[in-house]
Amino acid sequence: MTDEPRISTSDVQDMDKYFLHPWEDVTAIGAEARTVITHGDGIYITDSDGNRMIDGPGGMWCVNAGYGREEIVEAVAAQMRDLPYFSPWSVTTSPAAILAERLAAIAPGDLNNVFFTTGGSTAVDSALRFAFFYNNCLGRPEKKQIIARVGAYHGSTHLSASCSGKILEKVNMDMAEDLVHLLPKPNPAERPEGMSVEEFCDEKVADLENKILELGPDKVAAFIAEPVLASGGVIIPPEGYFKRCHEICQEYDVLFIADEVVTAFGRLGHYFASKDVFGVEPDMLTTAKGLTSGYLPMGALFISDRLIADIKASGNSAKGFFNGFTYSGHPVAAAAALANLDIFERDGLLDHVQKTAVYFEKSLRGLSDIPVVSEVRVKGLMAGVECCLDPDNPNEERDTTFLLDVDQICQENGLLLRPVYTAAVMSPPLTITETQIDDLTGIIRLGLETALTKWQSKTDRL
Ligand code: PLP
Repeated sequence: MTDEPRISTSDVQDMDKYFLHPWEDVTAIGAEARTVITHGDGIYITDSDGNRMIDGPGGMWCVNAGYGREEIVEAVAAQMRDLPYFSPWSVTTSPAAILAERLAAIAPGDLNNVFFTTGGSTAVDSALRFAFFYNNCLGRPEKKQIIARVGAYHGSTHLSASCSGKILEKVNMDMAEDLVHLLPKPNPAERPEGMSVEEFCDEKVADLENKILELGPDKVAAFIAEPVLASGGVIIPPEGYFKRCHEICQEYDVLFIADEVVTAFGRLGHYFASKDVFGVEPDMLTTAKGLTSGYLPMGALFISDRLIADIKASGNSAKGFFNGFTYSGHPVAAAAALANLDIFERDGLLDHVQKTAVYFEKSLRGLSDIPVVSEVRVKGLMAGVECCLDPDNPNEERDTTFLLDVDQICQENGLLLRPVYTAAVMSPPLTITETQIDDLTGIIRLGLETALTKWQSKTDRL
């Protein structure tokens, strides 16, 4: 940790007006004086005023191994000294090759073909392009439609964004509407009154089957799904849903793409959640984030041996998958990922999550007694605390503003939250301990109760 900040907070904030941030209102670039984060250690981050906070969102669902991992720093520096970069087109490098082999060994089923990307969006985009390529090779160029879901998030390239179902984030943004079809959100909390969760699950699985039949199985290339809809607010579909959707896809020869950009690398207590948590061996799997614990950008697409074998057997002579990036298999990012995996193994991070997740869930469920908390959703070390100020008269805009207040109070008290509209979502570094979970939950409670008192004094409705 350096002793003194090199430039003042206000200088950084001034210069920040040249940084067009993701999702920023372009008419107000730089209008918001953003908190400047300068350091990280363990599960904590520190801002330029010296305030140390628990990192609730784990960076952005990514700093799984936590901050300050010298092993990753050393591995990255050593690789940069040896070879910072070389083209993945014509040659290979040892970190990328070793990583590919190591990932194939821990990936579910026969997902033995690892295509490296620059992040999650490019992994998803590559998966979808591979689905098109696959069907072209197999002589069925009309099989190109993609099915995704409302509430999902798959990225920010044209195709991955088109598959994302966060409706508010589609305004003024063109989408590949001719290719992508969104099913209703599989959120059990939104089921009609009187419907059981099992009946809701049947309905959501039927939504997929009906959409395939409506479009025609010979027209549908792929179904893409996150096992838990992360950026959608940690939406946990009903038990059995993911597996049954996979079975439907198998029945109609539709590729099943598991988007594990968030759920892989320990978030749900396993390297990958598809098989170990949900019992599914997908045709393709996308990941990123926890792959390097966010230390460097890298993503990966896993393709099953079966798909490669089908292409081999197809007799089609043009088999080049013309998709790739200058930084595919970047040796320095690969070195970071290898060091990250070493930490997972040495520190037993997966076991730690499996144990700690039980406490995390119990602790967060304790917030349900606060009147504004309408639902607490927890899976592994990811959680969404849904807030509704007035259930008889729900108002999304008001609840979103309420959560911004909660966020501010939490920040003042040592926790960075990440409100996603009406839910406070959390995915702390996986190293979090029970005592730190108590701290985190205590600060959220304080934030919710304080903000609620403030809102109650503003209105007599509540
Ligand atoms: N898929 C999922 C499930 C994600 O949560 C995200 C990002 O949050 C992405 C894809 C896109 O990843 P990236 O931002 O690395 O491009």
